[in-house]
Amino acid sequence: MSEGENEEMGATGGIAASVSQDVDSPWARVCSKFKKEFGQQAYSTWLGQLGYNGLDGGTVELTAPTKFVRDWIQRNYGSRLMDFFHAEDKRVKSLSIRLAAKGAVPATPSQPVARAAAAEAPADANGGFGQQAALDPKYTFDSFVVGKSNELAYAAAKRIAESDEVAFNPLFLHGGVGLGKTHLMHAIAWEVKRRAPEKKVAYVSAEKFMFEFISAIRYKDTHAFKQRFRAADLLMVDDVQFIANKDSTQEEFFHTFNALIDNRCQLVITADRSPTDLEGIEERIVSRLGWGLVADIHPTDYELRLGILQSKAEQVPGVEVPVEVLEFLAKRIISNVRELEGALNRVMAYATLVGRPITMEMTRDVLQDLIRANDRKVTIDEIQRSVAEYYNLRLAEMLSQRRSRMIARPRQVAMYLSKQLTARSLPEIGRRFGGRDHTTVMHAVRKIEDLVKSDSQLDEDITRLTRLLAG
Ligand code: ADP
Ligand code: MG
Repeated sequence: MSEGENEEMGATGGIAASVSQDVDSPWARVCSKFKKEFGQQAYSTWLGQLGYNGLDGGTVELTAPTKFVRDWIQRNYGSRLMDFFHAEDKRVKSLSIRLAAKGAVPATPSQPVARAAAAEAPADANGGFGQQAALDPKYTFDSFVVGKSNELAYAAAKRIAESDEVAFNPLFLHGGVGLGKTHLMHAIAWEVKRRAPEKKVAYVSAEKFMFEFISAIRYKDTHAFKQRFRAADLLMVDDVQFIANKDSTQEEFFHTFNALIDNRCQLVITADRSPTDLEGIEERIVSRLGWGLVADIHPTDYELRLGILQSKAEQVPGVEVPVEVLEFLAKRIISNVRELEGALNRVMAYATLVGRPITMEMTRDVLQDLIRANDRKVTIDEIQRSVAEYYNLRLAEMLSQRRSRMIARPRQVAMYLSKQLTARSLPEIGRRFGGRDHTTVMHAVRKIEDLVKSDSQLDEDITRLTRLLAG
């Protein structure tokens, strides 16, 4: 990889030696199996970078020095590691690799990595919130690239982080997987910590909230549980769709929620869908969730994808990624930002490992599977069919030259979605819509972009259709 990345690896390279000293530990045995199977080189480059923090209810807890190392290990060695751990302990059901905070990466190899991991949950330092999800140091406002699809969510998140007044409560962020919801939440937490360190910030996933609540009941300690969350100045609950159908957790969530709002505490909530689309969540909760500001993160468009790639490529000094490669990725990987990042990382890692500059050919080669998967995703045909069906029109009608609003609007929606969800050019889209001119398509795209700002029904239609099509 880059010089920067190498340095990081160098600095932490000795960790493995210190954690695996105990030859009899499960971790040491897993390491040695790994070496046997993948070789010493792969071990020191990858697994040797990790710290082992033990087992937490069936989950092996590991820490990685960088996101890159974490992703690489998960993607390439994750399932083998699971096998190894499972052979050690049948209770093992999953692996969790967290990031160690950058500043906390040990300067000397002998310092145990566990300490770095402990420093990583900054919310613990002042809030006494105990176990909660770690904040990723890379998820800041600075590293978030803003485009049309996420500008409202970004502005709202920023507003909350920068102001002491409760302007809207809760802030409800929703959007598909990998579009930056968690990133924005962490960014709020980092910014509040920087600006007002005395504030108690709690960040939890809804799953964790649920898990802790259930443990609290089991250990008859619900009082402490309540106190903990209700003492927050800012509570962020990520992925609330997970508490759907979990009645008692919902109940507690609702009470906590109300108590916090009454105390004028700021709440930020995310989900993969809008409050009204949350199924299995009680009506009164749904309605309260929608009381504040509901901000929707739409799927990325080409420009935003390119912007994100540029910014990520710049973050790794020393590796040149040709512009045509970035453009190619932005065009072809349209599913979500996480996959987009993963693709870029993979190409950069490959180039570093084989010691050759990145080329188009290499990119195609390394990403074959991903490109194929994304290719299959959405076609103009599918978009046309789904939109026609959604609006109860016949396909031929929608593609016809008729101009009545009833038909023209859905047609514009379909053109807009074709631009958003496929890599087709405007002239190509025009051709597929009964041989229309590219300016007509452009007009349609602008029109819809404009309308969704004021027309909430249309906005919802677009969201639903996008979800339907892009999964
Ligand atoms: P979600 O929580 O919505 O599923 P995440 O916040 O985990 O998505 O984002 C997935 C990945 O994509 C993260 O690595 C995140 O940093 C990155 N990402 C998403 N949107 C952006 C953006 N606008 N700018 C920079 N990175 C982004
Ligand atoms: Mg998330």
